[in-house]
Amino acid sequence: MPNKKHVHIITYGCQMNVYDSIKMGDLLKPHGFELSDSYEDADLVILNTCHIREKAAEKVYSELGRIRIAKERRALEGNHMMIVVAGCVAQAEGEEIFRRAPFVDIVVGSQAYQNLPTLIEQVKREKGWAIDIDFPKESKFDSLPEESGSQGVAAFLSIQEGCDKFCHFCVVPYTRGAEYSRTVPEVYREALKLVSLGAKEIHLLGQNVSAYHGVDEAGNTFGLGKLIKYLAKIPGVERIRYMTSHPRDMTEDELFEVHADEPKLMPFLHLPVQSGSSAILQAMNRKHDRDFYFKVIDRFRAARPNMAFSSDFIVGYPGETDQDFNDTMDLVRKVKFAQCYSFKYSPRPGTPASVLGNQVPETIKDERLQKLQNLIREQQQDFNQQQVGKVLQVLFDKPGRHAGQIQGKSEYMQAVAVQADVSNIGKILPVKITRLETNSLVGELVA
Ligand code: SF4
Repeated sequence: MPNKKHVHIITYGCQMNVYDSIKMGDLLKPHGFELSDSYEDADLVILNTCHIREKAAEKVYSELGRIRIAKERRALEGNHMMIVVAGCVAQAEGEEIFRRAPFVDIVVGSQAYQNLPTLIEQVKREKGWAIDIDFPKESKFDSLPEESGSQGVAAFLSIQEGCDKFCHFCVVPYTRGAEYSRTVPEVYREALKLVSLGAKEIHLLGQNVSAYHGVDEAGNTFGLGKLIKYLAKIPGVERIRYMTSHPRDMTEDELFEVHADEPKLMPFLHLPVQSGSSAILQAMNRKHDRDFYFKVIDRFRAARPNMAFSSDFIVGYPGETDQDFNDTMDLVRKVKFAQCYSFKYSPRPGTPASVLGNQVPETIKDERLQKLQNLIREQQQDFNQQQVGKVLQVLFDKPGRHAGQIQGKSEYMQAVAVQADVSNIGKILPVKITRLETNSLVGELVA
């Protein structure tokens, strides 16, 4: 084994990126790299980037500026630091990154990072730079190593990638490519491995996880519902969640049945709608209208009456009128969400919406966002308040913020804190909720 080298990975964005960063760490371990908490003394720094938020590329360049200082300091000390830009900004910006940040050594896209060890060797050998932003024909998952370290009691498992929906505001279909589902045996083996490493809760991930259509050894196709039923049989898997879903894909009976029949599947679902106006949904190319969304929610609630939902909203999409916005407020009032994420529309370069002329003025977007967020906050507080006095099952995963506390997640992903010994971390225990704090619930363990 060569001398240990240190890699520091900075991750932006969604759970898919968190998962990819874990995989990059696993991939580099056999090449002598161990994870480091800081980039200051790292031999390799990876910036795993996200292109969803506003000015994503600018934020990456400014972070790179900070890392460059560390690289120059290390060079003066006679050490080398290699810098890698990975993820969706790498995919979208490509060679432009070398032009604006010539001190970057490698640019690697979201579907090509399995080639990272080869790219590192190439750069060392040729003393230049390397780029790989291809969408390879074979899946990157075929080349990724098995999970080598525990993710903890709650673990991510990527089952699907990419998107064929092409919502007009979104860059994902361009940065992550077409929809692809991992095979059932691959997913099953990874779930077994995660459980052997201590996971009790598995989060099935995908940009369009509800579009999952993987095959088993016999060539049978599994939809998401069937896959969940199958994974729930693994001893040691105690909780299953999945995200992110698209309402248009929520049509298979088996998915609603598994919500009704499988207690390991948590009664909480993130189901982005983006707008409550059918006209705006059509303009966004969302492929569903508001009535379709209500029908999906009703089906889930009929299958499991205690289901709770979260969603994403974009406010001020080009052409959004007062009436469209009122439809959004109306949809929120009708569904009653447990929590939501909401953002002002801002154009993403390269997307169809970015070239539309009918942009909504910033002041109107600000006003609408404030109104929506007030309503969402009220609903979240109501939902949390309804839990006071109830007993929730909490999976404890870390010490709490105060002395003697431990913290975990309820079935509804709420943070819950109790006074209890740290030996309870890793267990799912019943907790009677006694009060709310700003961002969490507080309770007592039920004997
Ligand atoms: S469904 Fe729409 S918002 Fe979601 S990843 Fe695909 S294009 Fe983007």
